[in-house]
Amino acid sequence: MNETKQIKNEHQINKSKELYKEAIKHLVGGVNSPARSFNKVNYDPIYFKEGYGAIVIDEDNNSYIDYVLAWGTMILGHSNEYIVNELKNQLNKGIHFGACHYYEIEFAKLIKEGFRSIEKLRVVNSGTEAVLSAIRLAKNYTKRKKILKFEGNYHGHVDSLLVKGGSSILTQELNIKEQETIVCEYNNKEEVELAFNKYGEEIAAVIVEPVAGNMGVVKPTNGFLKFLREITKKYQAILIFDEVITGFRFCFGGLSNEYDPDIIILGKIVGGGLPIGVYGGKSYIMDELAPLGQTFQAGTFSGNPITMLSGILTLNILKSKNYSYLEELGEILENGIKTIKSKYNVDIFFNRYKSMWTLFFNNSNEIRNYKDVIKSDTGKYADFFRFLIKNGIYLPPSQFEAAFLSFEHNMSLVSKTLDIIEEYFKKYY
Ligand SMILES: *Cc1c(COP(=O)(O)O)cnc(C)c1O
Repeated sequence: MNETKQIKNEHQINKSKELYKEAIKHLVGGVNSPARSFNKVNYDPIYFKEGYGAIVIDEDNNSYIDYVLAWGTMILGHSNEYIVNELKNQLNKGIHFGACHYYEIEFAKLIKEGFRSIEKLRVVNSGTEAVLSAIRLAKNYTKRKKILKFEGNYHGHVDSLLVKGGSSILTQELNIKEQETIVCEYNNKEEVELAFNKYGEEIAAVIVEPVAGNMGVVKPTNGFLKFLREITKKYQAILIFDEVITGFRFCFGGLSNEYDPDIIILGKIVGGGLPIGVYGGKSYIMDELAPLGQTFQAGTFSGNPITMLSGILTLNILKSKNYSYLEELGEILENGIKTIKSKYNVDIFFNRYKSMWTLFFNNSNEIRNYKDVIKSDTGKYADFFRFLIKNGIYLPPSQFEAAFLSFEHNMSLVSKTLDIIEEYFKKYY
């Protein structure tokens, strides 16, 4: 593949710039999702046209080592030859029927193989759609109205879950009576306990990212997830694990297998790059959905043959993969960055959970929640991001996002990345 070029400050992105100029005339803010705008890093968005393995190529023919991977989706790398060919064959036979198709069954079986807690599932078209359907189901099932979520966790753009709170349950008390959403601090058992003491009989569900990815990587502290399982059981509330990022990211399955939540949300990886969301759980809850039960949820494109096949092929390959490969690469990256950190004495904190990581420009030595995360210096991250992209490394265009490794990353790409990172701190610190 294309070699990473020498350290440079010149970055020819004329075609990307032209396209963006055109895009802003037609698309809101020039983008179809705000996360794609590079406004948080003061740069013009890059227009990608091709991707192979761990490398993506832009419209000006610059190539980059991709640590975004469509927000964690492309765990097998880009343009896996086998998957692409199989999809082409299916495209020749029909794109969508809006009716039952064999692949739906095979896909469901693979998901259940990975997730023991899932007895029945339903496929939708995005993580957002899966979450909002699961919330509707949990409310109908429990006949309760309130949802408890965590500050800095993201569950798609579902109205009731966009509440960030900005503050914790302790300062929100006045609002909660009216609102259906209670926001607690991530990793804070006491706040969750307080919320259940006050509103326990009204809480339909607790929703959590078992490893937080959408405020940058924040790991669950010891016992937090277990505690959530216990307290929801005690109050007969539904526990929802949002494994849209974490599902099939660390193993063939997810963190749910250890904690047995009632509903699991999947997305990203399980569609192999095509739009998807999945929610599933115990039959007695899932059977509340139409056509068996009273909770309505439908979708023209749900479980379409192309997405299902893409998911099946991806999951079948993942089943035979050795995930410790990703973990080892993550460790090498982490050790490299720690060495650079001490050599140049820089205020950075590398937070990693297996193959998912964030380099925080933050002098904490522990990051447990949103309050710790937002102490990070976003200006410094933006400078760092721009240096890296100019030198062929594509990181998330925001301090508060996770970066990922794929099975197509390797030692040589990781050590190139470390060289560029070292160059940056040597030059500017
Ligand atoms: C990406 C994401 C979603 C939303 O999925 P979309 O497909 O973008 O709607 C929900 N939850 C988590 C944890 C996510 O990372």
